[in-house]
Amino acid sequence: MERVDCVVIGAGVVGLAVARAMALAGREVLVLEAEAAIGTGTSSRNSEVIHAGIYYPQGSLKARLCVAGRDALYAFCDSHGVPYRRCGKLIVATDESQLLGLLALQEHAAANGVDDLQRLDANEVKALEPQLNAVAGLLSPSTGIVDSHALMLALQGDAEAAGALLALRAPVDAIDVLDEGLRVDVGGDEPMILLATTVINCAGHAAPVIAAHTRGLPAESVPPRYFAKGSYFSLSAPTPFRHLVYPLPEPGGLGVHLTLDLGGQARFGPDVQWVESLDYQLDARRADSFYAAIRRYWPALPDGALQPAYTGIRPKISGPGELAADFRIDGPAQHGIAGLVNLFGIESPGLTACLAIADEVCQRLGRTV
Ligand SMILES: Cc1cc2nc3c(=O)[nH]c(=O)nc-3n(C[C@H](O)[C@H](O)[C@H](O)COP(=O)(O)OP(=O)(O)OC[C@H]3O[C@@H](n4cnc5c(N)ncnc54)[C@H](O)[C@@H]3O)c2cc1C
Repeated sequence: MERVDCVVIGAGVVGLAVARAMALAGREVLVLEAEAAIGTGTSSRNSEVIHAGIYYPQGSLKARLCVAGRDALYAFCDSHGVPYRRCGKLIVATDESQLLGLLALQEHAAANGVDDLQRLDANEVKALEPQLNAVAGLLSPSTGIVDSHALMLALQGDAEAAGALLALRAPVDAIDVLDEGLRVDVGGDEPMILLATTVINCAGHAAPVIAAHTRGLPAESVPPRYFAKGSYFSLSAPTPFRHLVYPLPEPGGLGVHLTLDLGGQARFGPDVQWVESLDYQLDARRADSFYAAIRRYWPALPDGALQPAYTGIRPKISGPGELAADFRIDGPAQHGIAGLVNLFGIESPGLTACLAIADEVCQRLGRTV
């Protein structure tokens, strides 16, 4: 059994940010990634939006880590040359019945520390985005978009510069809690058994599965897992929009919104479809419901303009009809096992919050960076 100091499971944006933080804190870090490359999971199947922190329940980890993570992410992008654009976003009320909802959202955001939202009337919305149908809107100037792959490469670069090692095709099968440390069984092409002081489970969808295969972890410390798929369609024509455009949120998601990539292409999504397995196939027929949803705020969307793009699947730990669960960052204080941290339900805004999540993990292990 080979001894290692700190094992990070999963090389998505969160695992890489955690590995970086631990390595910068002086720990010897080994990242174990099941696939042949970094970031092939949820981290490359999302909207790439740097969220301001508007929506999440007050006092939740999502709210706190989104606001802290957003500021840290903008600073990191500046210092590491990661492409991003602080393009701002408009949240629109498309009829009078939504006005109260819009006001409530602004108050909610302020309570979360997002105090830069600007209320706009119909004319002010039109002045910013002439093609939008809106009776009122909120402008969020601190929302932006980021190149998620460039971000992951920069996190990996920092982690490796601080001494972290990355092993690809190295799936973790099981963990055993022993007196002398945490035994990690790694399968794949070159199976190995490691004895680690610290193990941080950042395996996204698979995190609850790894937790269930952790001998010594109480069963009540393993949450259920659910998959909520989101499909995206891109706009075949040049976009007339300069801002991201969101309707008021809907149960389970933020509503079919318009995001832009750094190349200037517009895409719409994600919708919410509860599924049983990690099947990323896109059903082109879902475009039918997109046209109706988008035309509420952009009536001029031409017929046939939506092209199937891709899907992502939210790693949920609460099911359909339940209140959306918060991020879960379970450290020794939660489950009683020294050196072990499990991250569960790291859905949106996990990309925005990755650096703040990494700090939180370090703190739960009793270290700061
Ligand atoms: C549709 C959608 C839209 C989103 N939009 C946004 C957005 O606009 N802004 C935002 O902030 N957030 C967004 N998110 C959330 C964000 O994408 C995630 O929170 C983030 O990518 C999670 O990163 P991760 O590293 O935890 O997970 P992942 O990227 O899934 O990484 C987990 C890694 O663990 C590896 N792994 C799995 N099992 C094992 C094993 N046994 N051993 C070793 N490795 C293993 C996987 O291969 C994978 O590489 C969105 C999510 C979805 C689904």
